[in-house]
Amino acid sequence: MTRIIACISGKGGSGKTTLVANLGAALAEMGKDVVVIDANLTTPNLGLHVGFPIMPITLHDVLKGKAKINDAIYTHHKGLKIIPAGISINDLQGIDARDLPNALLDILGNSEIVLIDASAGLGREALAALESADETLLITNPELPAVMDALKAIKMAENLGTKVTGVVLNRSTRKGHEMTKDEVRNMLDTEIIAEIPEDMSVKQAISKRVPVVYHKPTSYASQEITKLAGRLVGENVVVNRPLHQRLFGFFSR
Ligand code: ADP
Ligand code: MG
Repeated sequence: MTRIIACISGKGGSGKTTLVANLGAALAEMGKDVVVIDANLTTPNLGLHVGFPIMPITLHDVLKGKAKINDAIYTHHKGLKIIPAGISINDLQGIDARDLPNALLDILGNSEIVLIDASAGLGREALAALESADETLLITNPELPAVMDALKAIKMAENLGTKVTGVVLNRSTRKGHEMTKDEVRNMLDTEIIAEIPEDMSVKQAISKRVPVVYHKPTSYASQEITKLAGRLVGENVVVNRPLHQRLFGFFSR
């Protein structure tokens, strides 16, 4: 059975696209058949994160009825599959985000896991991602505005009957001005299933158009994303930490 997981946040810039690219990469590394989909139809950039910035057939073509979804799937040489979106303004003409759930029907049964990168906000596009999914990962940063938006997103997912699998706390530094993990958990009343640190390697990887999980698998961010991948599929993954990290671990404070 195919598991469809939407990644939403409410607030933009929380790390949805980065998470979808890297969670997909981590799951593919574990041998899973995974497809990541760019459902941020108005401002897509998932393709950039995985090295497929401009592709001939995209999700927009599928939504316009010009192509079949299986023709819009591209495979990264490391195994991850992606359905990118069109990046031109012209791509936006004649599409309706509400057609997304139907467009995805043809890939059901062909993959183990589908990860949907949703748009920011809680408008029609984000709603379409939620409606297409069986479950939702909420991504937020440890600051009040992001957490408040995440709370609304959780309520929206619940209202639609989409299971909220957990909250991913991203860009955590554990500095005093940030909300603590417990504060975020209490406010959202939802389990925090991963805490990904603020990590320069993430930005370096994006600039190289490679998921950080591939670019720097030993980075703190990659390790936490890999652990999350293992947790999502109920498998134990062994993360080999370099010696310097074992001595001065980010999360050992
Ligand atoms: P969203 O899709 O939610 O709008 P993105 O995934 O595009 O957010 O992330 C926005 C930016 O935040 C990225 O381009 C990257 O520079 C930065 N970023 C995301 N996660 C991390 C992280 N764990 N550490 C450092 N920078 C990060
Ligand atoms: Mg994004």
